[in-house]
Amino acid sequence: MIQLIRGFKDILPGEVELWQKIERIARELFEDFGFNEIRIPIMERTELFKRSIGEDTDIVEKEMYTFPDRKGELVTLRPEATASICRAYIQHKLYSPDPAQKFYMIGPMFRRERPQKGRYRQFYQIDAEIFGVQSGLVDVQLIFLLVTLCKRLDLKDVGAHINSLGCPACRPQFKAALTDFLVSVGDKLCPDCVRRRDRNPLRVLDCKVPSCREAITGAPSLLDHLCDGCRSDFDLVMESLTKLDVPFVIDKQLVRGLDYYTRTAFEIQTTSLGAQSAVAGGGRYDNLVKELGGPDIPATGFAIGFDRLAELVALNAPQPVQQPDLFVAALGAKSQTLAFEWICKLGLDGIRVETDLADKSLKSQMKRANRLGAPYVLILGENELEAGEAVLRNMRTKDQTSMSLENIVDDIKFQIKGTKSQLG
Ligand code: AMP
Repeated sequence: MIQLIRGFKDILPGEVELWQKIERIARELFEDFGFNEIRIPIMERTELFKRSIGEDTDIVEKEMYTFPDRKGELVTLRPEATASICRAYIQHKLYSPDPAQKFYMIGPMFRRERPQKGRYRQFYQIDAEIFGVQSGLVDVQLIFLLVTLCKRLDLKDVGAHINSLGCPACRPQFKAALTDFLVSVGDKLCPDCVRRRDRNPLRVLDCKVPSCREAITGAPSLLDHLCDGCRSDFDLVMESLTKLDVPFVIDKQLVRGLDYYTRTAFEIQTTSLGAQSAVAGGGRYDNLVKELGGPDIPATGFAIGFDRLAELVALNAPQPVQQPDLFVAALGAKSQTLAFEWICKLGLDGIRVETDLADKSLKSQMKRANRLGAPYVLILGENELEAGEAVLRNMRTKDQTSMSLENIVDDIKFQIKGTKSQLG
């Protein structure tokens, strides 16, 4: 049998309802905050990701699904959304006449990482980006949005972590101080970090290898090296989060894996998902639009790991499985044909009906109705058919009533809609 590819997964019925619920709540929230949906392609020119994410990042170095298309041009399955949204913003001049724009998108991403729980090779992100506003206050808006989404999903064990990554004016001094420090701890770093030390020293700060974490405990902090502009922006972010009652932790090891970040970086972390603690992450990227050939326009954004968010919500509240409103136990070919007609008509009115067209006994059909959790069963046997009626059984109270076949579709609608509105 052909199995799915390692690191890829199916989202099956029973699970997908939760994804739909999260998506609905997220969309509502984005739209209330004035974000517009944007849909971007799944594949882009490889160059786009190399230039934005950075050549020395794990993603570009070893995780992208890159291949030549039939004409030899290198293309890549998108590993994240920001680069593509920036490309679209520049290509379609979405900055004109008003550079201040807010977008969101929901869809799959592809990274060839080592698969484990919470880490997949095809995973989904809910992504939001704000262009054209330099103030750290919009970073706060994004963090506020994330925290609100978590609240609406009843998540308790999540918290916001923030840091500032400085800007091209202050980061070089910090990088130099960090590199000196990393040289001084020498062989205590893992082989990956020894390589990162020279090429991308900031990445050493978020290495998860225990010996590296220990080695960097005394590392210099970017927060001590911020220029005046970055310092006052970070102060504004903290002050505004406090005013909005958003609890946060200053996390000087939060550096994010991508090159394009400047100033505020943030993550929503949880203690409930083991090693994969980051549910969402983002930050400001003031130079990316310009670096990709657009005008000098600042931007900020985040990506939520949809898979992890869904796992977290499921841990907190197991989701009820969808149940039919009615099961029709039809016996004999004529009854089955009638039942089938009713299902189609009732479906138009949003009433979910199941039946059995396999000529099973009444007993086995009642068992199935029970298993599906149908609150009502309509029994239509040959005797009932001859008498021009069917029997409606309330599965909870076990009461049975006869219903004339004449107006049965409308009568069922009335009965079931009444029950639904009583249940709220
Ligand atoms: P990043 O684009 O790396 O900042 O990721 C943003 C969020 O996407 C993370 O916080 C994770 O929740 C999620 N994420 C990233 N990589 C994966 C993956 N391989 N599998 C599942 N979720 C992921």
